[in-house]
Amino acid sequence: MKTWEANIRKVTPYIPGEQPRSANVIKLNANENPYPPSPKAGEALREMDPSLLRKYPDPACTGLREAIAQTEGLPTDRVFVGVGSDDVLAMCFLTFFNSEKPILFPDITYSFYDVWAELFRIPYRQIPLDDDFQIRPGDYEIPNGGVVIANPNAPTGQLLPLSVIRRILSANQDSIVIVDEAYIDFGGESAVPLLEEFENLVIVQTFSKYRSMAGLRIGVAFASEYLIRCLNDVKFSFNSFTMNLPSLVAGTAAVLDQAYYRETVSKIIATRERIGEPLRRLGFSFHKSSTNFLFVTHNSCPAAELFEALKQAGIYVRYFKKPRIANYLRITIGTDEEMDALLAFLQTYLSDRGGEA
Ligand code: PMP
Repeated sequence: MKTWEANIRKVTPYIPGEQPRSANVIKLNANENPYPPSPKAGEALREMDPSLLRKYPDPACTGLREAIAQTEGLPTDRVFVGVGSDDVLAMCFLTFFNSEKPILFPDITYSFYDVWAELFRIPYRQIPLDDDFQIRPGDYEIPNGGVVIANPNAPTGQLLPLSVIRRILSANQDSIVIVDEAYIDFGGESAVPLLEEFENLVIVQTFSKYRSMAGLRIGVAFASEYLIRCLNDVKFSFNSFTMNLPSLVAGTAAVLDQAYYRETVSKIIATRERIGEPLRRLGFSFHKSSTNFLFVTHNSCPAAELFEALKQAGIYVRYFKKPRIANYLRITIGTDEEMDALLAFLQTYLSDRGGEA
């Protein structure tokens, strides 16, 4: 081995859901929203003066932060934005987790958390969910250098009530607690009101799911003015111009269109509830989801086999070859037509195979 080789930072990266090049697939593998974003996003992009692209964008992202602050009823200086919530979460790990004690997060959760911990050399401890994939809040009442909870959790889809989030925050007043609310708008109650009570709380949200703008890459953090200042100091020590102009323009125009999002989210929730019963009849089981996906397991057909069979049929879902969840599939809720195509394929495949259907 060359001497310089020992100095290379070697990491095992996060692997995102596959983005097939063909448009001719049913894509239920990245928890994208099947409906387009608010028409206001497209209008704003069409009206944008392209000559503005010669200039650097506003590094403070003021217009976008003001619009987001308005929707949440928070002051603008309690809002931070970044390039998707992945960027925001990475900045939070770098800013808030500098203890010798391990940070805590569940063993089954967003699989980027351990990647960032490894990248930034943050000690961490993965706390097992119970056998029903639920978080046991008492497990988080041990010395730690920080806590990260996705609520609802991914890929399990399960929601913690605000009372449990409050309990975790109360027990961890010496640490920063990050609540990742990527899926909160699909049936949960946001912890934003708890910001008044807990100065150790950081809430992270995204425009990628509920607001259908995964392609723009906009993520948000809400916290105290002091914590947001600390986040900004780290961001400006890393890259001042994280947010590009088209994202700022389209995101600002579209974020206030709450009526539009309420309508699309109610369609997704209706589809999620409608397909539950047919999936159970086909032999699948799953817990109640508070997200835009279902985390399912089949009573006879292995998940790895189903994943491949679905892919051959042009239906992409997500499979994690990991301890405890290797027999599960995460299926994003698409349009009604997409979910009917999924059900029709499963019906035929499982009955040909001699299973439940
Ligand atoms: N948190 C969770 C729990 C997620 O599932 C995702 C989506 N992969 C993200 C954060 C990141 O989403 P984005 O970077 O698109 O905002």
